[in-house]
Amino acid sequence: MPDGDTHRLPYTVEPTRYDLTLCPDLDAATFDGEERVRVIVHEPTAEIMLNAADLEIHEAGLMGEDGADRSARVTFDEGEERAVLSFEEPVPAGDHTLRLTFSGVLNDQLQGFYRSRFTDAEGVSHTIATTQFEATDARRAFPCWDEPDRKASFAVTLIVDESLTAISNSEIEEVSDAGQGKKRCRFAETMRMSTYLAAFVVGPFELTEPVDVDGVPLRVACVPGKGDLTGFALEIGAHALRFFTEYFDIPYPAGKLDLIALPDFAMGAMENLGAVTFRESLLLIDPDRATRVELERVADVVAHEIAHMWFGDLVTMRWWNGIWLNEAFATFMEMLCVDDFRPDWLRWVTFGLSRGSAMVTDGLATTRPVEFPVRRPVEAEAMFDILTYEKGAGVVRMLERYVGADSFRRGIAEYIAKHSYDNTETTDLWDSVEAATGEPARSTMDTWIYQGGYPVLSVAADDEAGTITLTQSRFRYLPGEDDGARWKAPVLLRASVGGEVVRHRLVMGDEATTVELGGPPEWVVVNEGGWGFYRVHYEQELLDRITAETDRLDALERFNLASDTWAAVVAGLSPVGNFLKLACLYGDETHPSLWAAVLAPLDYLDRMMEPDARPVLQRYVRDLVGPAFERLGWAPVDGEGETTRTLRATVLRALGVLGADPEVRKKAAEVEACYFADRASVDPDVAAATTAVVAAAGSTADYERYLDRFANPATPQEEMRFLFSLAAFDGEDLARRTMELARTEVRTQNAPFLISQLLANRTAGPVAWQMVKEHWDELLERFPDNLHDRMLDGMTTLSTPELADDVASFMADHPLATKQRTMDQMLERLEIAVAFRRREAAGLVAAFEAV
Ligand SMILES: [Zn+2]
Repeated sequence: MPDGDTHRLPYTVEPTRYDLTLCPDLDAATFDGEERVRVIVHEPTAEIMLNAADLEIHEAGLMGEDGADRSARVTFDEGEERAVLSFEEPVPAGDHTLRLTFSGVLNDQLQGFYRSRFTDAEGVSHTIATTQFEATDARRAFPCWDEPDRKASFAVTLIVDESLTAISNSEIEEVSDAGQGKKRCRFAETMRMSTYLAAFVVGPFELTEPVDVDGVPLRVACVPGKGDLTGFALEIGAHALRFFTEYFDIPYPAGKLDLIALPDFAMGAMENLGAVTFRESLLLIDPDRATRVELERVADVVAHEIAHMWFGDLVTMRWWNGIWLNEAFATFMEMLCVDDFRPDWLRWVTFGLSRGSAMVTDGLATTRPVEFPVRRPVEAEAMFDILTYEKGAGVVRMLERYVGADSFRRGIAEYIAKHSYDNTETTDLWDSVEAATGEPARSTMDTWIYQGGYPVLSVAADDEAGTITLTQSRFRYLPGEDDGARWKAPVLLRASVGGEVVRHRLVMGDEATTVELGGPPEWVVVNEGGWGFYRVHYEQELLDRITAETDRLDALERFNLASDTWAAVVAGLSPVGNFLKLACLYGDETHPSLWAAVLAPLDYLDRMMEPDARPVLQRYVRDLVGPAFERLGWAPVDGEGETTRTLRATVLRALGVLGADPEVRKKAAEVEACYFADRASVDPDVAAATTAVVAAAGSTADYERYLDRFANPATPQEEMRFLFSLAAFDGEDLARRTMELARTEVRTQNAPFLISQLLANRTAGPVAWQMVKEHWDELLERFPDNLHDRMLDGMTTLSTPELADDVASFMADHPLATKQRTMDQMLERLEIAVAFRRREAAGLVAAFEAV
């Protein structure tokens, strides 16, 4: 603890075990609690300070090993969310037990101990009490030392109505009658862990039979009637448990694992030890009625959370500045595991997309270092963003590929073994990787973690000398001074020299680096494999040599070529025509992510074009995408790969929405009608794509049908598809209706994302923006704090000068407390879009016509 840091609790008193009894009253939305906390008092003190927020403490006292029973006076520091227990005489050093009784409220803010509600098939409404504690909301459920390095064990008892199910981190040891129609569920003592990982869930749940995963019982919990949607979660859950037990080389650290689907949940999921909580749509799924992308998303999230059981729960960051490593690593592990679960999904190629989004944010002047100092815990809330998850995972992957997967895994296993039940700093991980690999992990990674941004490596060849030279500079979308930032960039490169392929491996430093190839190269690929978290800028001659032979590139290398070229266009460093010509080479791609790398920029361009200019872009899209769809057809054929389903959906959607293909739109409406008549009659991927195509040109009658499907969905995924499709309809009236729904009926876990999509809609965006301004205070009040910025993401497309000015001035007057940096990033993205429009819009038609 830094000297004088008043935001941290003193270390004079150390909790070692919480005996915690909670009795929630679901109808009244309140709870009563009682706890006995074993503490070690290290030096005599007349005050014990711990965290509590929105709690009433009724009684407080301390029992010493000397038999003395001391009562305490309780005062609160609301700003710091603390309770101070004051004793008449100093408490002597030694072991004591703190006794507290307290009560609190089951709130509707989806944090702390909160209430979630749902209506069953008979129209009866039910209430669930559940928890979400990360980062600092355990203190809303029980007084505690709510800092990640105050690890203790938990012995939990929940007193609940006899008819309800109670779940916590460990297995139930005993159920007894508590009188008045209630039962007392006593759970086994947990391992030593941080308070933010505790969980209590009470409600009318249906539980699957446990699956025995090498001795660990695995179950899924859901609201009644959804049990038929649990099979896939159990399958990936069991796979992930086995995968990580082997990878980390340490047994799963809890006695059981429950995966719990909740109707209201602000985050995607939460890695409470042994009791992982999820949004329903990220856990409950039917493989026969879901798209492959929806399945992949569930597999990702389940794998991610189970990776945390070791990386995060067993070994935990010392303080909140370390959140990024926790999340970056779990994201990296999720992909490693899902790639093992379904190798033909090519999960790491898809990672190119999310990493690409992180590189967009990280190319802004308003980016941030992945890790930064955190004093008040609330500052860490700003860390739950794309830089933590996707840039973090990207640089971890870059290190893993550079040092080699096997030795990297040995380093990780050693780290987990060495720090089990304990807390770490970021550098502890690099030390373990260095010990296992002999590579300078710490000095390399420090340049990626402690400074924002990333470099572009410029490549020039000297054919006479048989060399290439690499130089680095910071990549930026907007022009800026060279701030001197440099990176130690791990580079794998390959070249063809005299018909032979040669490879080199190096860590590039600050200076220009010349690589001896032994002759003039026929072609060079810098960033071989595509793992580097940087861009590559080839001099024209080298670029021509590669683009002449793109079949020599692997999928991620081709992905990067498109992505880097487009980034240069957006930054004003390369003409739009360069990208349009390159994109034409991607017509035979078979992985959907490669198509996305080409289609997303075309969507961006579409937003920049005047309505009467759009046909030229639509024609270009039809020429590019049409032949691929021709090959694939409207329905799957026997024996085709799973990613082919996604490919078909991707090109179908592109043709129907961006390409405005009249034939495709007509047929999509027919297919959609079949789907409405009989869900089983249409392949789920095709169904999802036609839903989007129909919405793009949809009528009010279509809107009504979508609304009805959203209200009466067959699966959680279908509910999301139809909900978010509402934002794709054209026209101001429908935009107003969708906005009204978001303000009132749509669950607060989803509504911010719906508004974001509405803001991004070409015709609805301006109306939606007016309504966001009108209802600003009300929207912030209604939605969970950590989703406020998500609501605004779509505003980055409001790039006409008048709208952009209006957005900038409104946001200047309405800062977002903990999410201001994300806000600044959105405003910079908008500024980039405005600059792009000013620079390029007038020449776009000519650029398309010239291809
Ligand atoms: Zn996570």
